[in-house]
Amino acid sequence: MFLKRLEITGFKSFADRTELEFVPGITAVVGPNGSGKSNISDAIRWVLGEQSAKSLRGAKMEDIIFSGSDGRKPVNYCEVSLTLDNADQKLKMDFSEVTVTRRVYRSGDSEYSINRQSCRLRDIVELFMDTGVGKEAYSVIGQGRIEEILSTRSEDRRVLFEEAAGIVKYKARKKEAVKKLDETEQNLVRVQDIMSEIA
Ligand code: ATP
Repeated sequence: MFLKRLEITGFKSFADRTELEFVPGITAVVGPNGSGKSNISDAIRWVLGEQSAKSLRGAKMEDIIFSGSDGRKPVNYCEVSLTLDNADQKLKMDFSEVTVTRRVYRSGDSEYSINRQSCRLRDIVELFMDTGVGKEAYSVIGQGRIEEILSTRSEDRRVLFEEAAGIVKYKARKKEAVKKLDETEQNLVRVQDIMSEIA
């Protein structure tokens, strides 16, 4: 699986639709300070489901929408599409190419899609779980992240190894199952209370 294409419209400094094609191997993005290099990795993390404006270097989510410049009006929405080559079927989908898209409007409304089919954020997060590509995974390492990884608590570092080992999906499912069990237990207690009141 490799990153094939990134399409950015209205995201941060990319007012116009911009398409970046990647080929297997190493790609370097070079440019002067402030020209938008980091905005590219922000766009990748955002389309993969990043929900924190702070980690996208903004104060609120609206800050990722192009806010205008000399002679250019602000835009009302931004959209990012990330296309991955899936010939090796690492992503559990029967397609040799997978495109995930996220769009957000100034009103705060968000839309997500996988291969142009509308979906939930949860579907995108689950698709990338244990592949190393998710927003918290190790395939996109932003400025300062390496230092953070090295200095962080061992319990936090463990998350990266769990992703690489492919067990994040199972941990997430276990968490959901335990939550459901808890809710069921509470319901049982309530039912017992009602039954003892009636008896
Ligand atoms: P450096 O080499 O200094 O790290 P960089 O090339 O990584 O810089 P970025 O941080 O990606 O640059 O881009 C910063 C630029 O993006 C700034 O000029 C900033 O004004 C612009 N920018 C960020 N958010 C928006 C927005 N919502 N609308 C318009 N421009 C934006």
